[in-house]
Amino acid sequence: MRNFECKSCGKCCNDFGSMGTLPLFNEEKERYERLAKKLEIDIEFVHENVMMDEETGIVFSANWGLKGDPCPFLNNDNKCIIYEERALICKSFPIEKINIDGSYLNLGNFMHCDNFNHQEAIDSKKKSIDIYGEECVSSREEIQRRQKNISEKINALITLGKIKLKKVEKFYSLDILSIETFIENIVL
Ligand code: SF4
Ligand code: SF4
Repeated sequence: MRNFECKSCGKCCNDFGSMGTLPLFNEEKERYERLAKKLEIDIEFVHENVMMDEETGIVFSANWGLKGDPCPFLNNDNKCIIYEERALICKSFPIEKINIDGSYLNLGNFMHCDNFNHQEAIDSKKKSIDIYGEECVSSREEIQRRQKNISEKINALITLGKIKLKKVEKFYSLDILSIETFIENIVL
């Protein structure tokens, strides 16, 4: 079977799926804000997976979501205008998750990347790096490393009794932190 080659069709940047948002880490959101200001593009973020710490009353979200269907950084030629500075999630597409044993899941089939038979790639059991390339795999690994790091810190704070989390359904009028800022605030 051949290896994956992105055809730059732009479909994955035109449609962010059911959420309609691109999930970003805090520093990525800040970078996108700087780029949007420089390029004079309007962008909008939403808080996703919002939680409240019942010990302190602080409300925070697990990630930022860049609104877009299509992405505001996609130009009329279906090209990313911040390609060199795009987020890890963009670099990692179409791999969704790399398992501990090195096997992987991908988003290709249901995120409209139909320029390649992703299911055949999974079934072939070839290594993800051989099919999708180094940048894609290392970006997905970096996402997972950061997520693990964040969840270990949150779990440690819960175990120490410093925080007690509750999911928040309605949060429009609340002051909301990113999860990274929340962790810094509690640890300090
Ligand atoms: S930032 Fe670029 S690569 Fe990422 S979704 Fe937007 S247009 Fe696509
Ligand atoms: S949908 Fe697939 S082929 Fe098209 S730009 Fe995205 S990754 Fe590349």
